[in-house]
Amino acid sequence: MFVRRTRIIGTIGPASDNVETLEALINAGLNVARLNYSHGNLEQKTELIEKLRLVEKNFGSPVGILADLPGPKLRLGTFTEQIQLKKDCIVNLYCGNEHLDSKVEVLENSNDTIQYNIPVSYGGLSEDLTDNDAILIADGTVRLSVINSPKQKNKIVTCKVIEPGLISSRKGVNVPGTLVSLPSVGEKDLASIEHALNNNIDFIAVSYVRSALDLKPAIDAIAKAKKFTPIIAKIEHPAALENLDEILKVCNGIMVARGDLGVEIPYEEVPLVQEKLIEKTLERGLPVIVATQVLESMTHSPVPTRAEVTDIANAIRQGTSALMLSGETASGEYPLEAVQTMNRVCAHVEQGLEAMPSPPALSQYRATRAVAHAGVALSKEENVARLLVASQNGNAARLVSAYRPKCPITVFTNKIETMRKNTILWGVETI
Ligand code: PGA
Ligand code: MN
Repeated sequence: MFVRRTRIIGTIGPASDNVETLEALINAGLNVARLNYSHGNLEQKTELIEKLRLVEKNFGSPVGILADLPGPKLRLGTFTEQIQLKKDCIVNLYCGNEHLDSKVEVLENSNDTIQYNIPVSYGGLSEDLTDNDAILIADGTVRLSVINSPKQKNKIVTCKVIEPGLISSRKGVNVPGTLVSLPSVGEKDLASIEHALNNNIDFIAVSYVRSALDLKPAIDAIAKAKKFTPIIAKIEHPAALENLDEILKVCNGIMVARGDLGVEIPYEEVPLVQEKLIEKTLERGLPVIVATQVLESMTHSPVPTRAEVTDIANAIRQGTSALMLSGETASGEYPLEAVQTMNRVCAHVEQGLEAMPSPPALSQYRATRAVAHAGVALSKEENVARLLVASQNGNAARLVSAYRPKCPITVFTNKIETMRKNTILWGVETI
């Protein structure tokens, strides 16, 4: 008997990448394992995929694997010390590979203003910035303002500290409102896609999508490999909000990537944007994932905050297909408790679901959609126990799920790929 319909995605990392923990997480209800290609090497990913397939086999039901590409995330260089940046201090960002391992320098001049020289991963940054642009470090906790961007000259951007705070090696750097000229799918991403496809992973998530064009390299790579791997567009840049309709026409689902999104746009705008993104994606009959800080406090605590529980409930009521755990399961102290909590909260909140989220009015496969619609309508009138769906590639399964029937959906398929692809679909069990 299955009670929970919202799917659970968990990021696998040092806290969970052993067979024993994977088994426990999957038994507790994890539907999809997310592999973050920003961290670790490809060899480790191969090993992890092997472990997941072994656990899947013992478990007897499909487990989805999502390959999340690094994308053009800017980072500070590598350095050993932690630095407390003080308000109004001067920071010189040394942009590009040639500076990456350069030492962090702290200079104090005669009139007591401290200057820091800090390396940043991307050389083009000095060209993309103009004076007064904001630069945010470490998930937006530290804010700088550009006072002198040299464009081509010496690749050193001079900034002033507006919001002080602690920075350390490899912390993320965001430049909100600036269109960084790095591609969404770069060299490292292409190598990650190739690895993911060779290892038969089930979903590819593309980071920092800004336009439909950003998805093209992934679409081409999948076609070239003669696969149909679904592409999840991570929505975390304001340009993606402008170009959402175009993006939804070429992707197979989206992730509301609230971490970077809440730095790239003011965080108070995130809740309404989330609602809009869910609505627009469901209208296309596509799955949507709500991600980041979902059970953040459980990184260090065995119980969630009431606010986190309510956030999950809101996402479910807005119609999300799946919720994702990040650090909670990847590097937290309570990965199992986090999945158990998610399982319990989802199952309970769903019982109170009354309102129907947006029907898939703009989806493709119109004939399949019509049959799905009729089937679900009938199931509601006749109070049926279960809907049975035959689906070769998962489109019928997806569209039946999109109409959110009250009864469970059991899908039959002759393809293992489809079984795994269906793990992200709301309320679907596949045989
Ligand atoms: P990330 O994406 O964890 O890869 O940064 C999710 C987010 O930004 O919320
Ligand atoms: Mn992100």
